[in-house]
Amino acid sequence: EKMAVPHGRNFLMVPGPSHVPDRILRAMHRQSVDHRSLDFPKITHSVLKDLKEFFQTKEGTCFVFPATGTGAWESCLSNTLNQGDKIISVRMGQFSHLWIDMMHRFGLDVLELDVEWGDGLPYDQIAALLRNDTRHEIKAVAVVQNETTTGVYTNIPKVRQLLNQLNHPALLFVDGVSSIGSLEFKMDEWQVDVAVTGSQKGLSLPAGLGLVCARPKALALGMDKPKSSNLPSVFFSWKDMVDQNQLGYFPYTPSVPLLWGLREALDMFVVEEGIQNVWARHHRFAEGVRRAVAAWGLRPIANKPEEYSDTVTTVLCPEGIDAQKIVATAYQKYNLSLGGGLMKLRGRVFRIGTLGDINELIILGTLAGTEMAMRDVGMPIKLGSGVAAAAEYFQQTAIPTRG
Ligand code: PLP
Repeated sequence: EKMAVPHGRNFLMVPGPSHVPDRILRAMHRQSVDHRSLDFPKITHSVLKDLKEFFQTKEGTCFVFPATGTGAWESCLSNTLNQGDKIISVRMGQFSHLWIDMMHRFGLDVLELDVEWGDGLPYDQIAALLRNDTRHEIKAVAVVQNETTTGVYTNIPKVRQLLNQLNHPALLFVDGVSSIGSLEFKMDEWQVDVAVTGSQKGLSLPAGLGLVCARPKALALGMDKPKSSNLPSVFFSWKDMVDQNQLGYFPYTPSVPLLWGLREALDMFVVEEGIQNVWARHHRFAEGVRRAVAAWGLRPIANKPEEYSDTVTTVLCPEGIDAQKIVATAYQKYNLSLGGGLMKLRGRVFRIGTLGDINELIILGTLAGTEMAMRDVGMPIKLGSGVAAAAEYFQQTAIPTRG
């Protein structure tokens, strides 16, 4: 028997890692260089400068760690906090759950709030915790801007407003792994103290960089952390990084191909396209997917339209349908990678990512493949119904960078 040889490209429509543009692939195809050479500071300074625009900050200091989003989480917590510190966080899906798990393992005193998966932040409950904390024992509020499990997008300015209204000095930490570089994010305007992201989502790079931005109040904690702290930071130390970055170097061997890839990604999205246009593009793609989902008679698991994510749509399947079979069929029969349901949503949902090197026609192909896979598992979907709804939207609307 002959092996099936897939032709064309795999439709990688999971919400990260995302397709890497050919330009970025070529930029990364580089020989190693001496990272202590006289020339090396040029690349370091140039990416650190444009990352400020990427995070929408003038006041913040950016860090590039050879890590992933998980490492960036660790960097945020270990530079700013000590064991026993109180921190508020909300479990709304797998990623917020994993960050909370890290907080526990670091010995933080986590004031956990739980919401139904599909819901956004319980702003009133956060406000109540802060209001009762008259002695200001709560050191931080940590939220995920875009819960990749459910496709729920958080209103960060609203969290900042809660803190400011109560004059509460707690730091505001934002996980922007599946949002920064794709969805609206404004570090300075929203007074975010620490923001983290990874390279494999909106930046359209392979995984391997954990990006962090810290504004002065948070940065000072990392710079002055005593060696005797009961929550030390070593690999992720901001002080070690700042000391070397100022000179244009890193405290250890950086991933040179990824730095050149990052340079190219910043050229594409920050310098050439412009970050506001990047946000508009993601909205357009996700809205096309949502039109298709509605045409199928299905709905996103996100409960409030104002919280719909523009990087991932998590589609709720009807009772009696195993969503994992849709994901498996899409992959095996159509070479289409959809995201599966995570943790307690396994089997109940599938996820369509709309980030990375994709365009309208790739989305239409994705929707066609999804329709076929849903039919394959017995769902009464009319072929072309979702494709037509998305095509109608794409054809009838435009954004500045697309005609
Ligand atoms: N936070 C969010 C919102 C994510 O989507 C992910 C990964 O998908 C992570 C954190 C963890 O990032 P990584 O897998 O790069 O460590």
